[in-house]
This record gives sequence, structure tokens and C-alpha cells, in this order.
Amino acid sequence: MGQHEPILLKNMSHPGYTGSLADYERTGGYQAVKKVMGKVSPAEVTQLVIKSGLRGRGGAGFPTGVKWGFLPKDYQGLRYLCCNADESEPGTFKDRQLIERDPHQILEGIVLACYAIAAETAYIYIRGEFVLGARILEKAIGEARRAGYIGKNILGTGVTVDIWVHRGAGAYICGEETALLESLEGKRGLPRVKPPFPATHGLYNKPTVVNNVETLANLPHIINRGPEWFAAIGSPPKSTGTRIFCVSGHVKRPGNYEVPMGITFRELIYEHAGGMRSEKPLKAFIPGGASAPFLTPDHLDVKMDFESVAAAGSMLGSGGVTVMEEGTSMVWAALRLMEFFYHESCGKCSPCREGSSWLVQTMRRIVNKRGRAQDLETLTDLCKNIAGRTVCAFGDAEVAPIMSTLKHWRPEYIALIHEAEAANLLRPQPVGARG
Ligand code: SF4
Repeated sequence: MGQHEPILLKNMSHPGYTGSLADYERTGGYQAVKKVMGKVSPAEVTQLVIKSGLRGRGGAGFPTGVKWGFLPKDYQGLRYLCCNADESEPGTFKDRQLIERDPHQILEGIVLACYAIAAETAYIYIRGEFVLGARILEKAIGEARRAGYIGKNILGTGVTVDIWVHRGAGAYICGEETALLESLEGKRGLPRVKPPFPATHGLYNKPTVVNNVETLANLPHIINRGPEWFAAIGSPPKSTGTRIFCVSGHVKRPGNYEVPMGITFRELIYEHAGGMRSEKPLKAFIPGGASAPFLTPDHLDVKMDFESVAAAGSMLGSGGVTVMEEGTSMVWAALRLMEFFYHESCGKCSPCREGSSWLVQTMRRIVNKRGRAQDLETLTDLCKNIAGRTVCAFGDAEVAPIMSTLKHWRPEYIALIHEAEAANLLRPQPVGARG
């Protein structure tokens, strides 16, 4: 197993670490805020983050500092930072651990990001089910405010950053940045048509940055240890730093593993997660949350960086790696994911709203051995008419499980349809049905 130093999960691995302000300060917490506030200009902080190569850890993988640079430079009005803590992607549970075990690491990252983009207000949009996480964040904000790390005139520098926690109501789509902004404004969480983008027309129509929890948690370390240090970790130049991968499914040791970008799936699954839970070999894995197309054992030696996984036909997405052993029905697995997407479609655009319903009905028919030969063509046709034709990326996500299982495990679909056809021949036919 390659040696690596955890960065984000390091503090919580210390025995007795509680995530309190005192504990966080003992491990060097808030040193990055002290290092830059009033000493390094916001533009320089942005340049440091660009130099580090940090890319968003929420799914899209957009370069963080570059995203900040899209905010209008000469705009004098309010700007906002939103921390996306609406972690709802099936198979993904890393932000929850960061929130519950080391909340000040995230708060320090938020203060640094606000300083860089000149925002005085930040909202942490946390999924409604994370009740404990919301309470922990509220408590941590109170501690940091009393210590002068957030609020007005931080550490006497004249800089103001206030942070507020906002609990969502449990909709997956509110993890999409513009739906998140709508929800934060008190409206129904529906994605906005882009452009305009949040960088110019975000929260309350003001310039806004939305960054993921893990992305923000990296910032104090980049400031403290330098962008060159961060840029040398992982798979430079395009996939730098570590990532927390959430391994679940048929492995011996499911859990969160922080590893340098660029290790292989084989190393993550067989060394970190202990390999398969039984003697059955691996059959399939999802490399980056439910929205990422399935991969096969042939892809075990693919490097876990943005480009290599894309070249293999999938994506690192939210970092949720779900492993399935031989014997798993891939048609059933695709149906389970499709049912999730059908339930979570916000209904704003018809290809997704109507298409997800038709996909689920067709998939259920096949799994329940009522499928017809033309169903495979119908599935393919539906997927093609959804992908790339919707208001948000949800459309592409919902077809990924079906398209990828049709690509790699088509014979399983055909076998179920043949079973259905054979059973049909044995069923009594209505009078006159055979001419
Ligand atoms: Fe809503 Fe689906 Fe359209 Fe996205 S693609 S806006 S989730 S209906």
C-alpha cells in the first residue's frame, strides 16, 4: 500500500480529538486565517489557490481559484459564499464525516474563501437529514465567533465574515448549485437556466460562489503549507491533492479513505477497503456516486484522477465508490438507481420528468419478467432523448446507470426478456389472440 499522509482526516484520527475549537487550535487551527488576514491581499489568496491546482470536490471538478476569479472585479455591492453541504448522492458520505468530526476546518476554509472573494456573508446549506451536523456547525460557529475568528472585525483586521447554517428540506436536486440558491432564497428548489451563472447572478441576484465542503476544508492546509506542497500531491498537474473516497458495497472494510489522487481503483478496493467481503470476485463498481456510469473489473487499474476516469467512460463525481460482487443482477442494480432518480426529479423539464417515469416503468417490466424484445430499443431511445436535453445535469446522471449496464451487461437484460417471452408462451391466451 502506498504511503500517504491524510490531510483532511488527520485531526480526527488523533485519540480524543473532539472537533472543539480548543482541539482545533492545538493542531494549528486558524493559523491560516492569522497568516493572511490583513497581510496577504484577497487577489493573492486566489492566486495561491489557482497555483495549488485545487479542483472542486463536489462532482464537477472545476478549478476552485479559477471559479472565484469569475466574480466581477469592480462590483461594489454584496457578494455571497455558499458552502454546499447538501450531500445526498447515493454512496457518498464524506462531507458528513468532515462536518461532524472537524467542523472548524470547514469554517476556517469558509472564512478564507470569503476573504478571497470579498464576501461578508456565507451560508452553509446543509441537507435536512443532517440534524446532528447542523447542530455541530452551529456550536462551532458560536465558538469561533466568541474567539474573534468570524463576525465583525476578525482578529482586529477590519474584515467581516459571518456564517449562517441553513437546513434544506431533503431534496437531492438542491445539491445542484442554482437549485440550492433558489431554496436558500425561500423558493422551491428548482435549477435555474444558465447563463447567467452564479458568479454574476447568484444568491439574491448578487455575485456568488458555491463551493463543496471538502473543497473548502482544503484551503487552510494550502495556505499553511503552500500551493507547491499541495500541487505535488496526487496526480499533477490536473488532479492535485488528496480525495476522500467513500467505499461501500461488497467490501470487507467499507468507509471513508483519504488517498492521493491518482492511485488505482485496485489499490483503493483491495488494499484500503480490504478487498471483496466473500470469495466471490468483483463484478462491477460505480466510481463516483450514483450519477457515474458503472465500470468493470477491466477498469481496476485505471488511475483515480479526473482525466483517467473520464477516459474510461465514467467520472470521479462525488467520490462514492460502490462495489458489487459476482452474482449481483446489474439490471436490478440499475433499476434501484433509476427509482432514486425518478423519485428525485424536480419536474421542471419534460425530458427528465416524463422520461424518468418511462424509464422506471420499462425497467420494472424487464426485472419483473414482463419485458418485451423492443424494450431495449425503447430504453436506449429514451436515454438518448434525455441526455443533454435537460435544464440541469440531472438528466445525464439518471441515464448513466442504464446506459452503462446496457453497454457492459446487455446479455443480462436479454436473458430476462427471454425468460419473459418463454413464460408468455405458457400463459393462456385470450380467445382469438392467435388468429
Ligand atoms: Fe429538474 Fe430533472 Fe430538469 Fe434537472 S433535469 S431541472 S432535475 S426535471
